[in-house]
Amino acid sequence: MTYSDDDLIMISALQHYAFCPRQCALIHIEQIWDENLMTAEGRIMHERVHEQDRESRGQVRIEYGLPLRSLRLGLVGKADVVEFHRLEKGAWEPFPVEYKRGKPKPDHCDMIQLCAQAVCLEEMLSVPIPGGAIFYGRTRRRLDVSFEDSLRQETEETAKGTHDLLSSGITPPPVYEKRCESCSLIEKCLPKTIGKKSSVKGYLMRIIEEP
Ligand code: SF4
Repeated sequence: MTYSDDDLIMISALQHYAFCPRQCALIHIEQIWDENLMTAEGRIMHERVHEQDRESRGQVRIEYGLPLRSLRLGLVGKADVVEFHRLEKGAWEPFPVEYKRGKPKPDHCDMIQLCAQAVCLEEMLSVPIPGGAIFYGRTRRRLDVSFEDSLRQETEETAKGTHDLLSSGITPPPVYEKRCESCSLIEKCLPKTIGKKSSVKGYLMRIIEEP
């Protein structure tokens, strides 16, 4: 199956969905976005990267803000940076680099976003891409990411789940978890308040529906 141009979703939505499907729905269905210090710093960092155009450093050519698309996974977006590394036989191997403001996270959401960029580049350029990197602003270090089969599988499942969520148009109820404390939408989502209400409502509905 391939998607049409009208059905493409933002690559960044995969990162939001992998972090929390409700966060993804709040941003991409309900268009809620809370610009706080953290997100503003992240946005400025991305804008600075995208302001540049291209450069060459020895055996590496660097492209900034490269448009991306995959009809297979139904994705569209932009790569912060794609390095093209010259191989021994003279070919150029793409190596996507995503810029993040914070530090490496325990979950896979940043890696899924990067892998989705690689899948787009592979489809667009018809070349295999074995790896990329995520640059974290807080640690000022690059984390190398290998696009193993398991990460590719996770990325495909995340893309499918994100498409299903966005086409449903339904925002899932909140579930308060540890991740909520680092979520930029916690003030809008109110997981402790609404989460409790929706579980009470669900409980009452189950009682009413019971024979
Ligand atoms: S506060 Fe928690 S439940 Fe709400 S969107 Fe953020 S991570 Fe998801």
